[in-house]
Amino acid sequence: MATVLKGAEVSEALNTKIMEESEALKAMGVNPTLAILRVGERGDDISYEKGVTKRAEKVGVAIKNVLLPADVAQEVLIKAIEDLNADKSVHGVLMFRPLPDHLDEDVVRNMLEPSKDIDGITDASMSGVFAGIHTGFAPCTPSACMEILEHFGVDAKGKHAVVVGRSLVVGKPAAMMLLDRNATVTIAHSRTADLPSVVREADIVIACVGRAKMVEASYLKPGQIVIDVGINVLEDGSLSGDVDFEAASSIVEAITPVPGGVGAVTTSVNLKHVVEAARNQNS
Ligand code: NAP
Repeated sequence: MATVLKGAEVSEALNTKIMEESEALKAMGVNPTLAILRVGERGDDISYEKGVTKRAEKVGVAIKNVLLPADVAQEVLIKAIEDLNADKSVHGVLMFRPLPDHLDEDVVRNMLEPSKDIDGITDASMSGVFAGIHTGFAPCTPSACMEILEHFGVDAKGKHAVVVGRSLVVGKPAAMMLLDRNATVTIAHSRTADLPSVVREADIVIACVGRAKMVEASYLKPGQIVIDVGINVLEDGSLSGDVDFEAASSIVEAITPVPGGVGAVTTSVNLKHVVEAARNQNS
């Protein structure tokens, strides 16, 4: 049976480090603070906000909530971002996306000061990920995938990693981060021919597609490490990843569960980036 790479174990280890760093910052008179900027009342945003707030309390990161109505004018949202950029007591900003349709997300997200961009949403942060320059922050979800690999001692160097999915939020940055760790990387997507054979070639599989249980037995082989980023709600309301966990468990070497895998680590990565930002802004 495959080893189950539990996110809770990784996030506990991260939380301990974040707590230590937040104590050290407080001793210097710096109270690490995350501003959560939410536009509207989307259920998934609210539930993520609750999760981050609870975790932040645990690790000693303060939260500042900025809530704007779903029909907010773009100038008002930009002014809110500019105020957070100028506020020295705020070290990181998490802005939920997608924004309502009337807002130009590309314009809005790039208003954020890159040093406070703890979720890697600005072009400046993303260019750092692609250029291999570690000045800004990478998006939290692919960072969580790397934290999981590192925590469980999986060295990507020389391994063949196949990333299924090429979104700018997960797939592409995950591929760049694996390349940065000296993996040989293939990026697969909806037009990839014979996807099962491509994935079967992998030592490390990162599935970030958004299709429940798409990566089934025929895609897999013994020895693989599988990181399942997908979060899909099934008809009965339960959650499933992009990988058929039951089938994979009897084939691969190790796999992250859904829920309880990547998602559980992402929140801690958010907060890790906040204390790093607070340190950078005060050194
Ligand atoms: P996305 O923007 O919809 O991108 C999905 C990617 O999957 C696209 O590149 C698409 O290819 C590819 N794809 C779609 N159908 C495919 C198929 N049949 N075969 C191969 N590739 C296919 O989604 P995303 O934002 O990257 O999110 C992916 C998944 O991760 C979702 O389930 C999401 O809920 C989850 N997620 C989890 C977390 C977390 O913290 N755990 C965070 C963010 C997202 P094309 O480019 O060719 O269309």
